[in-house]
Amino acid sequence: MKKIATLLLILLIPFLLFSQQTDPLWQKAEEIVKNSIIIDAHEDVPTTMLKENVSVKRTKGHFDLPRAFLGGLTAPCFAIYTNHRYDNNHPAEQGLHALEKVYEFAYQNKDRVLIAYSYKDILRAKQQGKMAIIITMENSTPIENPSQLLIWKRLGLRMAILTHMKTNKYSDSSTDIEKWGGLSPEGKEMVKRMNELGILVDVSHLSDKAAAQAIELTTLPPVASHSCVRALNNVARNLPDDLIKAIAAKDGVIGINFFPVFLSEKVSKEWEKLMSRYNELREKYGENAREIIRQEMKNLPKATVKDVVRHIKYISNLVGVEHVGLGSDFEGISFTPEGLEDVAMFKNLVYELLKEGFTEEQIKKILGENFLRVFKKADEAYWKNNAF
Ligand SMILES: [Zn+2]
Repeated sequence: MKKIATLLLILLIPFLLFSQQTDPLWQKAEEIVKNSIIIDAHEDVPTTMLKENVSVKRTKGHFDLPRAFLGGLTAPCFAIYTNHRYDNNHPAEQGLHALEKVYEFAYQNKDRVLIAYSYKDILRAKQQGKMAIIITMENSTPIENPSQLLIWKRLGLRMAILTHMKTNKYSDSSTDIEKWGGLSPEGKEMVKRMNELGILVDVSHLSDKAAAQAIELTTLPPVASHSCVRALNNVARNLPDDLIKAIAAKDGVIGINFFPVFLSEKVSKEWEKLMSRYNELREKYGENAREIIRQEMKNLPKATVKDVVRHIKYISNLVGVEHVGLGSDFEGISFTPEGLEDVAMFKNLVYELLKEGFTEEQIKKILGENFLRVFKKADEAYWKNNAF
């Protein structure tokens, strides 16, 4: 029986490929990808760069330069990430080391890659067929105090998340204890200085209270670079409707995270069970528990590109298509939805959006124009403030 099914599939492949090529929506999707600015608001590529060469095609992970060009990616946000275990142990050194890797990568690929110091560089990259790197930060402890923000701005920093999975000196985290009742006094000072310097305030990972305070305090459009919708999947990392509305009210944008655990309730329920099993196994098997869990992860339910569309649609209906974008979290997530396995797959998302009735104009906003708008506003604030 299995043999017959395989044979049938083999016979069907040419037909399926042919129908894909002749499907006008696929042709339209290809055309849109080619003509759009695609900004991915959160990728953990600098962390991968510490161990691997992403200039050449790799068989694992979600990002490398050949796949980025294949997928039509114009401007990925490369997050300088520092693990919380360095929060009191030379975090600046960690952050600067990751930044150095980004510079090295840009220099080694200078014929194809540039660093975006302003939104105009993103436009220039698109015009010249290059890729623009937008430098961002996840966990801002490498910046030891607000007065160091200026130098980070000069180094290219465009957007920053004050904390990550753990509460730190600047902010409470959505996945840790409440220490400050939101932002700490120094965290608030950070937001004020970021406003002057045109560094966007990114509220992904912040506790609800901290996010609400940051959104209120920022004079720039607030951003959640890689967050999904809590009404569709009730996990702490996803945004409740009131925060989505608050971000939109100040002309901000939410980048939809591609992590299946955030996208789909079905996946997150099973993931929770798996994680508690992991803790049990770790006591028994130590580091070997990781491999056992990795195998079991393959049996988790699947999320697909349609789930990403579901979250996009929800935000569009709630506050308008101007306030939603992409924040894949590529290189930072342990598995991906079917159809969005890496940076070469944005076309699949465009195809699904077309099928759901989104217009070309709306899709272009989702792919990058919305994020471009907020980066432009941040630059204008910086130029106006003349903040040195
Ligand atoms: Zn993250």
